[in-house]
Amino acid sequence: MKRIAILGSTGSIGTNALEVIKSHPDEFRVTALSGYSNVRLLDRQVRAFRPQLVSSGDDPAALRRICTDRRVDHVLIAISGAAALDPLLWAIDAGKEISLANKESLVMAGPLVMARAESRGVKIIPIDSEQSAIWQCLDKQDRKAVKRIYLTASGGPFRGMPPARMRDISVPDALKHPRWKMGTKITIDSATLMNKGLEVIEAMHLFGVPCARIKIIVHPESVIHSMVEFIDGSVMAQLSATDMRIPIQYALSYPVRIPSSLSSVDFVKTGALHFEEPDMDAFPCLGLALRAARTGGTMPAVMNAANDAAVEAFCGRRIAFVEIPVVIRRVMEAHRVKARPDLDDIRGADAWARKKASQTLGKAKTWIC
Ligand code: NAD
Ligand code: MG
Repeated sequence: MKRIAILGSTGSIGTNALEVIKSHPDEFRVTALSGYSNVRLLDRQVRAFRPQLVSSGDDPAALRRICTDRRVDHVLIAISGAAALDPLLWAIDAGKEISLANKESLVMAGPLVMARAESRGVKIIPIDSEQSAIWQCLDKQDRKAVKRIYLTASGGPFRGMPPARMRDISVPDALKHPRWKMGTKITIDSATLMNKGLEVIEAMHLFGVPCARIKIIVHPESVIHSMVEFIDGSVMAQLSATDMRIPIQYALSYPVRIPSSLSSVDFVKTGALHFEEPDMDAFPCLGLALRAARTGGTMPAVMNAANDAAVEAFCGRRIAFVEIPVVIRRVMEAHRVKARPDLDDIRGADAWARKKASQTLGKAKTWIC
């Protein structure tokens, strides 16, 4: 019986994780839950799962207590955004097994997080479907035998749209993802393709592979969740239905597999699988994320914070969809990179980028909407 804490239990990943746990009462038990603003849902979850520890709102002390409590074996981190970084570090320091859905924490501080996990002997098991796929393909394989990682992308709702029409994209348009139902921030990131850029950085750190050996490939059917090519030319892929409960269950049950009643891939119904290059001109966020990945140091944290601010401004109808990369680029261009940052440098770069983005956004006359 694994005793599990879910941080961010009221979100899309959090509620899916609770469904997985509910359908496996002999394997998993919920010991702790944390939610942020949706107190009514958290209250329902507490009554249904009866955890020993609960935290709500902005309460770092309570979150820290959950991450370090001896009644918790496994911490599932489903908090969105930069707020997941501290809980991730607390869970590492407490030596807990961790499953990680949040990608922003690794984008901000990947080298520091991975080094800390390694020094404490802590496993970070990925939940993000692409990273779970790569993790499964790499299982027991020699990392030195990896030639290339193919990170698959659905292409989002605006794949193939003429750039001139992108100026009119509304918030509800951008929230309609063709394959996945997710939280607001990641859904907008999927529409700009920033999500794939964040995932390149996430994969670099999780698997110790340089950016140059990670290739993004658009695969609209989203049946293959990612692939690994080895030095002998063999390619291994992980396929499954587009349902986050599958990678969540594997992260919780790892290293064993347990049964699931979720749907299987219907290959005949799916028919042909397609692959294409990502359109870097139509989706400039992807190029910005790759630039941050290559630059390293404080730049990924700056790019991440600027993206956060730009997505928030788009959702608040303050800028147009096509202006999201404009804001990010301006902030990145103004940043003086620190090559080997410590945690304080990362936090400082994050705060600086949010302030810079807010100043950039404040020059409202330059924005088209
Ligand atoms: P969501 O917006 O649906 O849920 C976010 C959760 O985090 C909520 O429970 C919220 O209460 C909590 N939260 C938000 N801000 C917080 C703060 N400051 N302090 C404490 N808790 C806070 O998001 P989601 O779609 O579930 O995504 C969560 C994370 O998982 C993101 O980093 C996302 O990139 C990643 N992810 C999500 C999916 C998906 O299918 N939804 C897939 C892959 C990766
Ligand atoms: Mg993903």
